[in-house]
Amino acid sequence: MSEEKLTPRSEDFSEWYNQIVLRAKLADYAPVRGCMVVRPYGWALWENIQQALDKRFKATGHVNAAFPLLIPMSFLEKEKDHVEGFSPELAVVTIGGGEKLEEPLVVRPTSETIIGSMYSKWIKSYRDLPVLINQWGNVVRWELRTRLFLRTLEFYWQEGHTAHATEQEAREETMRMLNVYADFAENEAAVPVISGVKSQAEKFAGANMSTTIEAMMGDTRALQSGTSHFLGQNFAKAFNIQFLDENNTLQYAWTTSWGLSTRFIGAIIMTHGDDQGLIMPPRLAPIQVVIIPIYKSDSETTAVMEAAWRVQAELQAAGIRVKMDDRREVTPGFKFNDWEMRGVPLRIEIGPKDVEKKTVALARRDKPGREGKSFLPQTDLAPLIANLLEDIQKSMLGRAAAFRDEHIYNPKDYGELQEVVQNGWAYSFWCESAECEAKVKEDTKATTRCIPIDQEEGKGKCIVCGEDAKRKVYFARAY
Ligand SMILES: [Zn+2]
Repeated sequence: MSEEKLTPRSEDFSEWYNQIVLRAKLADYAPVRGCMVVRPYGWALWENIQQALDKRFKATGHVNAAFPLLIPMSFLEKEKDHVEGFSPELAVVTIGGGEKLEEPLVVRPTSETIIGSMYSKWIKSYRDLPVLINQWGNVVRWELRTRLFLRTLEFYWQEGHTAHATEQEAREETMRMLNVYADFAENEAAVPVISGVKSQAEKFAGANMSTTIEAMMGDTRALQSGTSHFLGQNFAKAFNIQFLDENNTLQYAWTTSWGLSTRFIGAIIMTHGDDQGLIMPPRLAPIQVVIIPIYKSDSETTAVMEAAWRVQAELQAAGIRVKMDDRREVTPGFKFNDWEMRGVPLRIEIGPKDVEKKTVALARRDKPGREGKSFLPQTDLAPLIANLLEDIQKSMLGRAAAFRDEHIYNPKDYGELQEVVQNGWAYSFWCESAECEAKVKEDTKATTRCIPIDQEEGKGKCIVCGEDAKRKVYFARAY
C-alpha cells in the first residue's frame, strides 16, 4: 500500500490530505458519519501535543479537572448569543434508560455553561479568585461537512475556563493563553502563527472578544489553530457567578475560556507535509528516529543487528524516541517509503559496510534526496542525533515561515485583493464594518482571519469601501 504514490499536493491538495491521514495511519472513518477513529499513531501525536500544552498550563498556574459530558438544555438557553450560536450544532439526548427525559440533555459542544453553574457554587468571595481550571476532553458539534481532524462531529480538545475579580485580570489571562498557544505552535509544532483578534462576525458565541492563532497551510488557506476568549461578565450574569469583594460589595466575576483541539493535527499535516507524505516536527513526533537494518546473509544479519541494537539502546537511554524496524517480510525500500509516509524526522540505516566502518547512514525526512543524507560514527551517536533533530525542528519552522511570508500580500486596491486571496493572504486596512467583511466573503470566499494585536494604530483607507480605517486585518480563505 505504501509503495503506491500519493496524489501530489499540487494536483489535489484535499485528496493529498485525506490520503496522508489514512495511509500514515493517523485516523480512520468511523461507522457514524462525520466521526473519526484516532489510531494509535495519531493518538501518540495528540499525547505529545497534550504534554507540551499541559506543562505550559501548569506553569501558568492552571489545574485540571473533569466536568460531565451531558448538560441540561436549559443551561445553554441562559446565555442568548451562546445558544443561538450553538443550537444548529447540538446533539440532544431525549431518552435515558428507556424513558423520555423530563429535560433534554445536550452532549456538550463546549462547557462554559456547566462550568459556569459550578463556579457560581464555588466562588463566594474575592479570596476564591482567580479560578484557573482546564479540562481535557471531547465535545460534539453536529457539523454537516466534515474532514478528518479538521472538522468532525466529535473531537478531542482542552478547554480552559477561568474566573477573575477584575476585567483587567481576565483580559490579561485571555492574552496570556493566546501567547501560550502561539509559543506551543511555533516552538513545538514548528507551525508559525499570527496572533490577533477576531472580528465581531467571527468571534465565539457569547464572547466579548475572541483572539486566535492563525496558521497558513501548504495550499495557502488559513487554519484557525487555537482560540482564547474574553467572556466579560456574560456567563457570570447568566450563571450568577458572584463574589463579595474586599469592601463587602457583591460583584460579578469576569471569565475567559480558551481551547485547542485535535484540529491542530490537521495544521501539522498541512503545514509540513510533502508529496512523499507527512513530516513530523521532531519535538512532537511519536517516533523521532527509525532504525532500518540492512542485510542479506546470516552472518551479515548477526553483525548488523548487534550494531543496530546497540545504537537503539544508546538513543533510548538519551531519551530519544526511537523505533527499530526489523520486519523481515518487507524490503528496506518498502520501509523507507513507509516511514517517509508517516513522517519520521530521521532514518538511520545500518548495513554490513557501516558495521565495518563503524558508521551509520542518516536520512533527514525534511530534506529529501542527497541533501539530507550523511554519515556519522556509531560511537557517541546520541548527542549528534539530538542536535540533528533540533536542526530539523528549526529548519521546518524556518521553511514554513518563509512560505507564509511569500504568500502574504499588500494589495493596492480591491481588485488586487480579489486576486491575491486566490493564492495567499491579503493584509489590508479595513474599516471594521460588517458590510465590507461580508462583501469580501461573498466576492472571494475569503474571511477576516484576525486583526494582529501588535500593530501600531495607523491611518489608512478600507480596502473595500475606501472609508477611513485604523487597523489592518488578514483576509484569507480558510478551513
Ligand atoms: Zn469598509
